[in-house]
Amino acid sequence: MKTKLRTHSCGELRIQHTGQTVTLCGWVQRSRDLGYILFIDVRDRYGITQISVKSDEQPELYQLARKLGREYVISVQGTVAERESKNPKIPTGEVEVLPTKIDILNEAKLPPFLIENETDGLEDLRMEYRYLDIRRPKMAYNLMLRAKVVKAVREYLDEQQFVEIETPFFIKSTPEGARDFLVPSRLNKGAFYALPQSPQILKQLLMVAGMDRYYQVVKCFRDEDFRGDRQPEFTQIDCEMSFVSQDDVLNMFEGMVKYVFRQTIGVELPDMLRLPYQDALKYYGTDKPDLRFDCKIVELNEVVGGTDFGVFNSILETKGLIAGINAKGCASYSRKQLDALTNFVRAPHRKGSGLVYVKFNEDGSIKSSVDKFFTQEQLRKIGDAAGAQNGDLLLIVADKLKSKTRKILGDLRLHLAKTEGWIDEDAWSVLWVVDFPLFEEDEESGELTFAHHPFCMPRPEDLEYLYTDPKRVYAQTYDMVMNGNEICSGSIRIHKKDVQDKIFEILGLSETERQEKFGFMLKAFEYGAPPHGGCAFGLDRWVMLMAKEHSIRDVIAFPKTAGGRDLMMDAPAKVPNEALKELHIQVID
Ligand code: ASP
Repeated sequence: MKTKLRTHSCGELRIQHTGQTVTLCGWVQRSRDLGYILFIDVRDRYGITQISVKSDEQPELYQLARKLGREYVISVQGTVAERESKNPKIPTGEVEVLPTKIDILNEAKLPPFLIENETDGLEDLRMEYRYLDIRRPKMAYNLMLRAKVVKAVREYLDEQQFVEIETPFFIKSTPEGARDFLVPSRLNKGAFYALPQSPQILKQLLMVAGMDRYYQVVKCFRDEDFRGDRQPEFTQIDCEMSFVSQDDVLNMFEGMVKYVFRQTIGVELPDMLRLPYQDALKYYGTDKPDLRFDCKIVELNEVVGGTDFGVFNSILETKGLIAGINAKGCASYSRKQLDALTNFVRAPHRKGSGLVYVKFNEDGSIKSSVDKFFTQEQLRKIGDAAGAQNGDLLLIVADKLKSKTRKILGDLRLHLAKTEGWIDEDAWSVLWVVDFPLFEEDEESGELTFAHHPFCMPRPEDLEYLYTDPKRVYAQTYDMVMNGNEICSGSIRIHKKDVQDKIFEILGLSETERQEKFGFMLKAFEYGAPPHGGCAFGLDRWVMLMAKEHSIRDVIAFPKTAGGRDLMMDAPAKVPNEALKELHIQVID
């Protein structure tokens, strides 16, 4: 840390430094003037050190210290001394510096919010003054953790013979299912570059080029409407390998994630489960299951028939799905709590028709919302199927659409885990979800679109259905799911022209469109494309989870707001008409 201006950082001094003469530089976190003594906490990225000035012994320094405002930049020269009252909460808490000289390197205006982990600054204000926000230790930690993750990724991939290769930002559209950001070309009137949604096509071309193992820590751009916690520009760890099977790719990147955890936060992750997509939906109601707690969905069609309960009977007739989750130890839920769960199920974006509950009370009695239609024996049978014991609460959802029953129960499972505190915040659930369907059906038009991107290879056993029943085709695709968040996805790619042509045909792309959009790729694939596959990690989300944050904004130095704005720079901004003219662009109101 030694430079001309300082000898140590503010996080460095310990009891063994006692007696040494040091110079520290940093920001005034706070000062406390007790009259006979004044304490200053001086902060930098590395920590906080206490400076203490006695008014009777050093009247001039004391007067100067009194003038220091919050966030003044100062330099302090002095002697390290053992503190009388130690602070075990910080690593430097055993010592303080008794100054011989204090220099004000720069004054500072009063900051608009508290620069401490628990700040009073609301999000917009923190974004506007992001450089002050980053002075908060938690934010600084997050950015340092991010750098450590990237460093460990590079170490691991380098060791595995991967080559880091930059691909251009000004390209032609690479489809990932979002809208492109476009950049007008001044030199080519009316033509636009697209910023990459991912380097997907380029990394595949690098495989055609024989580079064999590629990676890149790369910005990607997707112009999406506000959906959850997303950023229009975000960072991927983008990877591709040649001559590999799906298992090769999964093993390689499972190894990478384990290495990163070990190197950065000292956590040993166990081997990762490989859960088929269908099972993820069946047991957890989502393709991003959080397995830090159990509570699987149990299908109950087999055990709920033979009563007068019309709702269930009509769903059984239409081959819908009746299923439940067993909320352990929740039999004592009150009417109010159950009503709240019913409202949760009926929320406009879930559109559930209702919630059936069965309480298996501690005393062995059973009480349900369908007591009119079910005998105690029938309820007991349902409870047995769901593994319910005395003290448990069985929550049942039924719908004509299987996917709806599952989605609602998946949401409910997570909701209960959060409200009941079933999730151990120190635990990690990291798994692969594999074998996604190749296509998704647009609910309104019935048209097929690609589920991931159009270059994913069908599973060999499903290839024949590509020609007869494309909806039945599963792909060699996989996601890595961490604590219920997708942090990586990828696939084995199509390297054969006939299969790629068929997929484009199913997606409804005419020959002309194919040539226009992907001609360069199809051409390359005629010159010996090797079998290949890969994946891309969303770095922001991954680091967010490791940092135990709830928003990716908290691990990005200068993020955009939900509305896609940079509040610090005030971007996007209008540009002068002259600039537009040069770009051959006219803005229409
Ligand atoms: N390009 C894909 C994505 O960004 C990842 C991959 O398939 O490698 O989701």
